[in-house]
Amino acid sequence: MQDESPRAEISRRGLALSRMGRILRPLMKGAAVQQNDPHITLITPSAPMTASTHGGRAKCLQRLVRLDLPVPKTVALSFDAVHRIAAGDMPNIPALLEPFGDAPLLCVRPSSEDPDWGGPGAVLNIGMNDAMYVDLCDQLGAEAAAAMYLRFVQAYAIHVARLDPDMFDDVALDGPEGLSEVLRAYEDETEEEFPQDPAVQLAEVLRSMARAWEGTTARLLRQAKGAPADAGLGLVVQEMALGMGQGECGSGVIQLVHSKTGEPQITGRYLSQSQGRDALSVGAGALFLERDPRGPSLQELAPDAFDDLIRHTGMMRQRLREEMQAEFTIENGRVHILDGVRVARTARAAVRIAISLAEDGIIPKEEALLRIEPRAMNELLHRQVDPDARRDRLARGIAASPGAASGRIVFSAAEAQASAARGEACVLVRRETSPEDIRGMHAAVAVLTERGGMTSHAAVIGRGMGLPCVVGASSLTFHTRRKTLETPDGREFRAGDVITIDGTNGEVLAGEAPMLEAAQDDAFQTLMGWADEYRDIGVRANADTPADATTARNFGAQGIGLCRTEHMFFEADRLTVMREMIFADDSQDRRAALDRLLPMQRADFAELFRIMQGQPVCIRLFDPPLHEFLPSDRAGHRELAEALDLPLSDVTRRVEALSEYNPMLGMRGVRLGITVPEIYEMQARAIFEATIEASRDGDPVVPEIMIPLVSAKREVELVKTRVDAVAVAVRNETGVKFAYRLGVMVETPRAALRAGEIATHCEFLSFGTNDLTQMTYGLSRDDAGRFMSAYVQQGVYPEDPFHMLDTEGVGELLSIGAARGREAHPNLTLSICGEHGGNPESIAFCREAGFSYVSCSPFRVPVARLAAAQLAVRDKLGYISG
Ligand code: PEP
Ligand code: MG
Repeated sequence: MQDESPRAEISRRGLALSRMGRILRPLMKGAAVQQNDPHITLITPSAPMTASTHGGRAKCLQRLVRLDLPVPKTVALSFDAVHRIAAGDMPNIPALLEPFGDAPLLCVRPSSEDPDWGGPGAVLNIGMNDAMYVDLCDQLGAEAAAAMYLRFVQAYAIHVARLDPDMFDDVALDGPEGLSEVLRAYEDETEEEFPQDPAVQLAEVLRSMARAWEGTTARLLRQAKGAPADAGLGLVVQEMALGMGQGECGSGVIQLVHSKTGEPQITGRYLSQSQGRDALSVGAGALFLERDPRGPSLQELAPDAFDDLIRHTGMMRQRLREEMQAEFTIENGRVHILDGVRVARTARAAVRIAISLAEDGIIPKEEALLRIEPRAMNELLHRQVDPDARRDRLARGIAASPGAASGRIVFSAAEAQASAARGEACVLVRRETSPEDIRGMHAAVAVLTERGGMTSHAAVIGRGMGLPCVVGASSLTFHTRRKTLETPDGREFRAGDVITIDGTNGEVLAGEAPMLEAAQDDAFQTLMGWADEYRDIGVRANADTPADATTARNFGAQGIGLCRTEHMFFEADRLTVMREMIFADDSQDRRAALDRLLPMQRADFAELFRIMQGQPVCIRLFDPPLHEFLPSDRAGHRELAEALDLPLSDVTRRVEALSEYNPMLGMRGVRLGITVPEIYEMQARAIFEATIEASRDGDPVVPEIMIPLVSAKREVELVKTRVDAVAVAVRNETGVKFAYRLGVMVETPRAALRAGEIATHCEFLSFGTNDLTQMTYGLSRDDAGRFMSAYVQQGVYPEDPFHMLDTEGVGELLSIGAARGREAHPNLTLSICGEHGGNPESIAFCREAGFSYVSCSPFRVPVARLAAAQLAVRDKLGYISG
């Protein structure tokens, strides 16, 4: 029987290792440290060091050193030094090692400029060799020493020697025997001894980390996170503060807020006898930090160390002006802070953290506003797929409307309504949607289309309703007749199968994904309030229905900038009357049909005015081509013939007569208003009568009437004359006075160019940048999705111009229109109501151009309020805006 005492085991290990041919050589004494090398810098309070030369981690460690926190000795390598290492030009390693003494035990961590860009994983325990192992067996015990050595050999094998990680799968043992096996496996595979010289070990680790950063995959990954192509990597070499050994030793992480909510909460884990982030991955055995009914805690185990940690992280929050996560070790009861990183956070948490830092006087309000990415507000306004959830991605499309929802697949609006009636959540899957699908969209929890782009029907309506929507998912095969969806990897999904639409990321996922709820909590409200204090451009909403208007009002819109009236005619009872109007033989019959629509329109407008009481409401006169209201298939024609008591052939002939080669450039907008004047007259009357009605029991309403698709001043003159006549008639009939403002939607290039003469006939110009973009590029907004990603990928367009305003081309038309309009009419109100109104970069352009307001979908109103506030704050603080 062998003696099983630890001591005997240590000496046996020592012997065994020696027998494996390793010589326990004395360690080389290094040359003097290069204190004057700006690229290899011992981190001291005053060492010259910036995040843009040495990376965020190095800079943060210096800040911790300045706070006099117990940070182990650290040397930082600059981007330049690391770049040279990758190219084979090694620094003076003995000099680098000099501050760490004769028998160093080190770790190396990445330090990129922005920690979010990632970097190679940390390597711990550099310096472990046979001699150190024997020493540590004495100091810490064989188990701890073997665990440390083993960890290093494995990391070295995988990251430096580039051995297959699977080769360690068969090593079942830990402790000295496991170590022995791992060393043997290493040596068998490499046919070399495991390097013993810490200088060699460190040099190899530095080289492998530097090269990993320059690899193509790593570069693409970080570029996807917003890093520039030439982003640099720094490295920090730090003395190990051992989390293993005798007395209370271990490691963990701590932060003072919850990452998902941002609420104050001491969060983290601690694991005795562990290193790195083991406490997080191990799970079982890790302690809570604060006393917790669920299990033992560090507070109970080592109360003094716990108190120190709270103090240190509190100081980091106060002095680094940020919620930080600290990585720490406890060595024989003594706390070391190894690292500090910004607490990872959801958008919701980011808002609460920024607000509470400002409320605690740690950062000014302006900075709190600047710390929130406007687009991240979407996460607060809509349910989102839990970022920690596993994703079974079926396809990617265009992220047309943010938020996420899961439901059963349905392939038609009627099925969506039936599903909603059964109380079953459904996802409406269509090749593309059309106005006939509106009710199906209302019934669905999300929409997926094969075709379309950012301003296609599904996208615009989806955003307006706050309905998650992915369009242009053309990698899926849509068999709408067979009612199946086929994925690129050959899976088939049928009607009734559950999928998740992630409209924030443009992804279609299999099954029901776990969600995070929307959170417009008090922190969100505070942030919005602060944004309004700074904002200097108005924000209105594009809202067509009472539901939209209520959402817009709740989100703080300062009125409605665009009410598209055509959607009001798709309700079943109205559609038939609308069709009667379209089929009317003469003006008298047309008026008769419109007289039936009048009370409905009046009620629509009166309700909108009441909801928005005291705020402007801009109503756009009828815009789409009439054929959109007619059925497109034979069964629909038959039904219509029945409803209108007409022969089928009459109906078919009429539908054909109304069809156009290019309806978007055909008889729509003001062209319809001029040629079928009864429609606009009915709408004007409905607006005025609703104005009188709504003003009776509240603040007087001043409606705005907007003429769409104008390209010539005569169009405006004609419509204005008719609308004025209706106003006079209504005033005479009712004896009530009211005011109104007439404006023009500038959405054809000609209207922008002739804005001077157009502006003399109206009070405001609102740029409809959806059509204006379409017409400026000669690019169909409904078909652009097919090739937009290829165009953006190949750099033809820097961005989808339907998504982000093309400031060079379309923007020039806006500038010309604004300047000419203003010159002719100095009090002219200028605004934008295309989808770009909710895009932060486009808002910057409109603000620079001196527009009064932007108007966007209700759910983008908070994004626009914040984006506008940031522009004003940046100007105030002297940033270059844009
Ligand atoms: C536009 O063209 O920019 C616009 C707002 O109108 P619509 O999207 O209804 O065509
Ligand atoms: Mg338009």
